[in-house]
Amino acid sequence: MEIQDLYALIPEMQCIPNCTICCREFGIPSRTPLEEARIREYLDREKIKFSYASGTTCPYVTERGCSIYPVRPLICRLYGASKNYPCVKGVVPLSPLDEDQEAEIFHLYLSHFRGT
Ligand code: SF4
Ligand code: SF4
Repeated sequence: MEIQDLYALIPEMQCIPNCTICCREFGIPSRTPLEEARIREYLDREKIKFSYASGTTCPYVTERGCSIYPVRPLICRLYGASKNYPCVKGVVPLSPLDEDQEAEIFHLYLSHFRGT
């Protein structure tokens, strides 16, 4: 399984335009070594300067949203898409994940990618 295959199991959020509230509340998102490597590679390729989290603000958030959107880690993709990670603005995808689906995604994530 590739990590993109896992990401594809998570429904897309249709966020409020220019909203970055959740990216400013939770600091740097948790990620596996593979996700970190994908982010570093993307930053290099796109010539984006690496920065550090400030307070609760993620280092990758900009006024226009996430600067690493194509390679954002799993936890960012789950936010709002699953009942255990509700969007503070009440946005939900058309088919939110139920608890069993979320648990299966975490199981696959940890079993395939925790040490990678
Ligand atoms: S998930 Fe909710 S809080 Fe986060 S950016 Fe989207 S709309 Fe805003
Ligand atoms: S990586 Fe992107 S989506 Fe995730 S918290 Fe940071 S800015 Fe938001």
